[in-house]
Amino acid sequence: MERTRFSLPLKTPLNTAAGGIAAREGFLVRVTVDGVSGLGEATPLPGWTESLDACEIALNAVRPAVESEKVDEAIAALSENPAARHGLSLAVADARAQATDQPLYRFLGGEMRVETIPVNATIGAGTVRETVEAAEQAVADGFRTLKLKVGADTVAADVERVAAVRAAVGEQIELRADANGAWDVPTAKRAIDGFEKATLSMLEQPLPATHLKEHARFRGGDVRIGLDESLTERTIAEILDAEAADVLVLKPMALGGVDVAREAAVAAREAGVDCIVTTTIDGAVARAAAVHLAASLQDVAACGLATASFLAADVAESDPVPVTDGTIAVPQGKGNVHPVLSGL
Ligand SMILES: [Mg+2]
Repeated sequence: MERTRFSLPLKTPLNTAAGGIAAREGFLVRVTVDGVSGLGEATPLPGWTESLDACEIALNAVRPAVESEKVDEAIAALSENPAARHGLSLAVADARAQATDQPLYRFLGGEMRVETIPVNATIGAGTVRETVEAAEQAVADGFRTLKLKVGADTVAADVERVAAVRAAVGEQIELRADANGAWDVPTAKRAIDGFEKATLSMLEQPLPATHLKEHARFRGGDVRIGLDESLTERTIAEILDAEAADVLVLKPMALGGVDVAREAAVAAREAGVDCIVTTTIDGAVARAAAVHLAASLQDVAACGLATASFLAADVAESDPVPVTDGTIAVPQGKGNVHPVLSGL
């Protein structure tokens, strides 16, 4: 098992619950399974996964098992370290998909050929004018789904921003918003009432992560409720039992791998809950794997996979899953993707 550390500077520092971060740091993981080499990526994000140090320690701990070809035992031993598990399980899945002559999404269980995945543009906090300009640019770039970050300003300001974007882009563009758990129940109620008038399709995480019952009460209106941060605090089964979401936002790195994320998606769909896939602003290897996960789900709604643009550098010399006209072409080669690595 080879492990290569990388650091990918962000164009703009990311605000997380655990503080601002300036770079995405992690490991490329290479393993050989039955003579076939597979590549994975472990990119921890504090607040969502273990720390970088814990990820490294966890990967080191399973090295003997991997090198004696007990890869499934090694993967099982990483269940408390989602980024490490993502890295190793992806490397193994990549090798096995190649060995069986399939693209990763078919190996994961996708039953039909899928050509493209629709993706959303993300529009950050800002003034009404900045928000409208960013939305118009995204639509000009070909995006048909826009996600606005809300919750940083007053509800009145957010409702005004969303309404202004609706007026600017017309009725054919899907609008979503993401509050990242910023509100309490009365504030969220006012926001949802305001957003309904602008035909917002989905609001992600209006309330804090643990508030499942309260989220459940917001379902049934025109604005669908998506849960994202809640998946770090509660199991998929708990969220489905509480009937807390219309849509689950699946982040493979935070869940421990594309295989775990796919199991979650299948369970959610059986319960009548939709899923979308997003990255945690990962490098190109994990981003491509997330594209494969989305492809394995078929007919997935627009996903949060247009995240390469947040990075100032990447693990690959060129993006293996670039965004064109609001979609990403699904790689059809064997395994995940095998780009020329940039040596970061
Ligand atoms: Mg979110």
